[in-house]
Amino acid sequence: MLALVQRAFGGPDVFTFDDVADPVPAPGELLVQVRACGLNRLDLLQRAAPLARGFSLPHIAGLDVAGVVVGHGAGLDDAAPAIGSRVLVDPVSTCGRCDRCIAGHTPYCEQLRTVGSTRPGGFAELVAVPAAHAYPIPVGMNYVEAAALPVPYITAWHALMVAGKLRPGETVLINGAGAGVSIALIQFAKAAGATVIGTIRGAARTARAVQVGCDHVIDCVTDHVTGHDVDDIASSVVRLTGGRGVDLAVDHVGPALFEATINSLAICGRMVFCGTTTGVRAEFDLPAVYHWGRTLIGAGGYHPYEFVDMLAAVAKHDLRPVIDSVRPFRELPQALARMEAGGFFGRLIVEM
Ligand SMILES: [Zn+2]
Repeated sequence: MLALVQRAFGGPDVFTFDDVADPVPAPGELLVQVRACGLNRLDLLQRAAPLARGFSLPHIAGLDVAGVVVGHGAGLDDAAPAIGSRVLVDPVSTCGRCDRCIAGHTPYCEQLRTVGSTRPGGFAELVAVPAAHAYPIPVGMNYVEAAALPVPYITAWHALMVAGKLRPGETVLINGAGAGVSIALIQFAKAAGATVIGTIRGAARTARAVQVGCDHVIDCVTDHVTGHDVDDIASSVVRLTGGRGVDLAVDHVGPALFEATINSLAICGRMVFCGTTTGVRAEFDLPAVYHWGRTLIGAGGYHPYEFVDMLAAVAKHDLRPVIDSVRPFRELPQALARMEAGGFFGRLIVEM
């Protein structure tokens, strides 16, 4: 089969299209013919350096797989998706047997494996995946839309509903509103009856953030000498909330907006964080958190059942992912370059 294979760590040239052996599904696995695959920032991060324990070269990236079941490994029962069925894949699988799984800490399983990270992913014509983590594509959704769902929608669902415990009527701040995960956050927050304030850069993308459901959007001021004018975000949020601040904030941008996000919280507000787009170390004044009874929450991993809950919410509210662009598989390097350059709105998808 044809695959985009990573054989070293570095820049774009460590990915090359190669003809490699077809994967063979292990017991309990499916063989899926990939029809569409979503791009994620992790594809770029792991191009530069190994992040997840168990990552190895050569590697096939691609976390968000949608396709057709074309083969069965041994030991599958009638509950497994049939040959010919359309599936999307929860990329994370856990063992259910280790001490952490038995203790209920399934998201931190010692044997945790992720399609496209610690096992081969969807930047290929075929991929083997655990049958228990393949789900029917929602009715009326095509492969491209299905491939736009898994990572950003489960990340958003977990951050907002499980870690953040969003309640109806609350006001939520969502940073980086053009990212796939942010659009999912906006959709879930609106579906849950929240008021949404987004932050984004640029007038055109601000307008699109309103289109996807933001009640208010703060166009982050970019001063080319000093970078983000981060104080502007907190003061804008305070103004938009009548001096109160937001009940909940979800940030995946990291250090660039971390302190401004804390300062945007109401008294006893919560901030969930789940990303490192601008780095891994943040600075803020400790009293800004404890003096106001605010809570910082690391989003952490998700339980497999949350993926089922997420898909049910997508179906119930008829949510549709926003697609920035779709390219043929052979143009995957160009799609990765677009993601690296930034400035997109919604998901970048390749189609086989
Ligand atoms: Zn385990």
